[in-house]
Amino acid sequence: MSSPAVEESEPTRLRRFARALRAPLRLALDVALPPLCPACRDVVGESAGLCAACWSKLSPIERPFCERLGIPFVYDPGPGILSMQAIADPPAYTRARAAVRYDDVARALVHALKYADRLDLAPTMGNWMARAGRELLADADAIVPVPLHWRRSWARRFNQSAALSKIISERSGIPVVFEALKRVKATPQQVGLSKSERALNVQGAFRVSPAGKIDVSRRRIVLVDDVLTSGATVDACARALLRAGARQVDVLTFARVVDAARATI
Ligand SMILES: [Zn+2]
Repeated sequence: MSSPAVEESEPTRLRRFARALRAPLRLALDVALPPLCPACRDVVGESAGLCAACWSKLSPIERPFCERLGIPFVYDPGPGILSMQAIADPPAYTRARAAVRYDDVARALVHALKYADRLDLAPTMGNWMARAGRELLADADAIVPVPLHWRRSWARRFNQSAALSKIISERSGIPVVFEALKRVKATPQQVGLSKSERALNVQGAFRVSPAGKIDVSRRRIVLVDDVLTSGATVDACARALLRAGARQVDVLTFARVVDAARATI
């Protein structure tokens, strides 16, 4: 066999070179080409965001739902009824609302915003959230985004919850307090963890800064995140805010996981 190391080094070098080029190239292409629908990759032209077909596939969360957790009920039990889960294991927050169910299309939107720098999606997603959370916002004094650890925030360049908070603030007139809540522990990603593992993972991960205490003390807070999965993250944030003197914490997310088995009355 003739020296394979030499034969392989050339493509490897090329690959490395291509990889180095790709990031700036992709940025340039993003500017030059019309945006793609993050769910189906169809060209959507000037109107950024999902294509019409994918928009229509999103499932808005509407009443009847548990007034506390915001989990949709299969049938209408009457006004003000709470789910079994809300009674058996009440969260630190008062109410949670989400714009849509977390399905394939919602996941594509959230991932595009979070990992693909599709900041152009934030206004539409934020509008949906402002509508889904209008009752919470009507009672609120301040909006607080769920923070990223600074290391992850740096790697991703921006915090998607802060971007959504900004839009919701514009729509509702409720101010955002960006720096009140800090993530003091760089927790591993919650993906693939069970409910109790998630709770353990975020325990003690959030703290209100001394300056932030002034901003949240005796105020009604709407906590904003992109997705609610088990609720462990927002619950840990709500605990930190309440410990710092917040009067009430509600939760508003773009999407939430709806497990049919949990929506029991
Ligand atoms: Zn599409």
